Amino acid sequence: MMGNSSLPVLFRETFTTQSLENLFHSYSQKDTDEVISAINLALEFIEKGEPELLSYISDRFLAILLTFLRAVDENVLTNRILITYRKEIEKKCRDLPLEEIEEYSKKLGMDANMEFEDEMISVSLKDYLGIAGRISGSTYRLVYQDIRHGRIFVDREHVLKLIREYFYSNMKNFYDEMPADKARDITSPFAKATDTAKELFKSKAGLTSPELGEVESTKFPPCIKEYIKQVSEGVNIPHMARFTMVSFLHKIGLENQKIMDIFKTAPDFNEKVTTYQVNHITGETSGTQYSPPKCVNLQSNHLCYKGEDPLCNTEWLKHPMRYYEIKKSSRSESKK
Ligand code: SF4
Repeated sequence: MMGNSSLPVLFRETFTTQSLENLFHSYSQKDTDEVISAINLALEFIEKGEPELLSYISDRFLAILLTFLRAVDENVLTNRILITYRKEIEKKCRDLPLEEIEEYSKKLGMDANMEFEDEMISVSLKDYLGIAGRISGSTYRLVYQDIRHGRIFVDREHVLKLIREYFYSNMKNFYDEMPADKARDITSPFAKATDTAKELFKSKAGLTSPELGEVESTKFPPCIKEYIKQVSEGVNIPHMARFTMVSFLHKIGLENQKIMDIFKTAPDFNEKVTTYQVNHITGETSGTQYSPPKCVNLQSNHLCYKGEDPLCNTEWLKHPMRYYEIKKSSRSESKK
């Protein structure tokens, strides 16, 4: 059994640019071997869709791996690897006694306390709210929680989910806070491997990206494009975004199987749940074909991604469907 002392926390501030540069430019065989192991892990992941070295998991190894991935600069690839590690951390913590789970939660920066009487762990409201929204499933919503004196009491299963999200955030911060060009400087002795990884990923991604057939994805409104992008990056999009995306794609004529294929590109794809949701929203099992919400509803739920898009920024654009219809008709007009 693995004690929590060997579990990684990966705080960005532990690794300065200089210390990472020293690792990639090191003359030490041990350092070079570790860098090569991390690069091989990334290449194997791209090739086979699953890494083989997950048992080797330390702050230092992950820092090397993430620096290399930052230099490769393919967010979808990085997200898939992060999600795989996120699952691995949950799996490793599963064998730990509750006291060690509490200790590891604290190391990750969570305000967590062992509650011996209840055999539970309590988490501060602030920390819970900051992380629970990223966990899918209504059971994790605040309204269903055991709240006592401003703290949320959670059982073992529940705290494992919080831990994995904390760890995922630490890895994501590490990656996001390093500019890609800085990472390329740091990893310059391995520039050839960086290029190989990028090319290999692009060629594989081309084979696995969802095929949308007749529908014209370039005409999709920014919100739908964003949801599709996030899903394929493995982001757990909010229920309303999922609902909007599925109902939109159904309305424009995409078959259920093709809609399912979009979800399949996500690394934590759950076929049973997704089939149920897609069949329900499209009316196959519910008898009701739902329509996507209006822009105003998406906006009030922070799910509008209009940015500077000229059509979305007109006063009269009220619905994502309308956006698609206008874009399609403007193309057929220009063809006449
Ligand atoms: S304005 Fe409407 S169509 Fe455009 S991104 Fe926002 S919600 Fe989507």
